[in-house]
Amino acid sequence: MSSVSRRDLVLGAAAAYSAFGINKPVTFIDVANAQGPVTQPFRRYRVGDIEVFSLIDGMRDLPLRDGMVRNVGVEQVKTALRAAGLPDNQTPLRFIVMALKLRDQVVLIDSGTGGHPIYGNGNGRLLESMAAAGLDPKAVKTILISHLHGDHIYGLMNNETNAQLFPDAEIVVPAAELKWWTRPGVESIDLGPTRKGLAQRIQATVATWKNVRPFEGEPELLPGVRAIEAPGHSPGMVTHLVSSGSRQFLISADVVNLSPHIQTNPEWQLAIDQDPQMAVETRKKIFDRAVADKLTVSGTHWLMPNAGTLSKDGNGYAFSPQDGV
Ligand SMILES: [Zn+2]
Repeated sequence: MSSVSRRDLVLGAAAAYSAFGINKPVTFIDVANAQGPVTQPFRRYRVGDIEVFSLIDGMRDLPLRDGMVRNVGVEQVKTALRAAGLPDNQTPLRFIVMALKLRDQVVLIDSGTGGHPIYGNGNGRLLESMAAAGLDPKAVKTILISHLHGDHIYGLMNNETNAQLFPDAEIVVPAAELKWWTRPGVESIDLGPTRKGLAQRIQATVATWKNVRPFEGEPELLPGVRAIEAPGHSPGMVTHLVSSGSRQFLISADVVNLSPHIQTNPEWQLAIDQDPQMAVETRKKIFDRAVADKLTVSGTHWLMPNAGTLSKDGNGYAFSPQDGV
């Protein structure tokens, strides 16, 4: 489906199916169903002999407000939402934890919201989704962290006591993230309501835990899994490139937080990005690489299915989601 244009993606589902001479949903299902609840708790993809899972941790639709995209007016955002077949008064946000199955080992990439109330009610469903996917939390020996925002690390700890929920796992964290979130005075920087108290909580938990392994640069973190630097959304964020055989799958974390169904223009400066201009540069670099290397790409906050391929579409990108296996 890589030749599908963005125009095709925004067709109504029925029209799309008939346009392609098929009678059942292939890649359009989540766009078509985006207004209803997402019930499927996981998707599974195969990358050579590695299995990659998308696990729903939570869902939240944020009311659309001025300033959400700093350099684009709210009417333009509404137009993009409508073009994607979505209601134009809110932006749909998913919280999706990725997992890998490498032989008998389960690897998590980030840990979700932990059900922290700041991310809304009914979230923190990672363990439920793991159970549905047949993944045993006790088999998790490694957790790769993309960045230290709460919706990626609060799933590592108990909301009341901060006790570790995966004490036997090695937690692999970009050193640049640890350094930034523990530097003197960081707790007094206003980074918006969802990041209130975040630096203090990092300092009381991840920064002191003995099972945390910091790394610099872009090393191979596990056989077949390499870190790729992607600063902007958070100062030391990384993405994770999974390779096996001739297949490659990029777990792109928060390189773009609005689903590519909505945002195919990489120039949009999202207020949620700590350094919006750097985030734009990173986004172009990472997505251009994804197009050139024909990577399957997933995003933490995209609609399900949250993995697929990207192609160039003018100055932006078109996203073709894949259902998985
Ligand atoms: Zn996030």
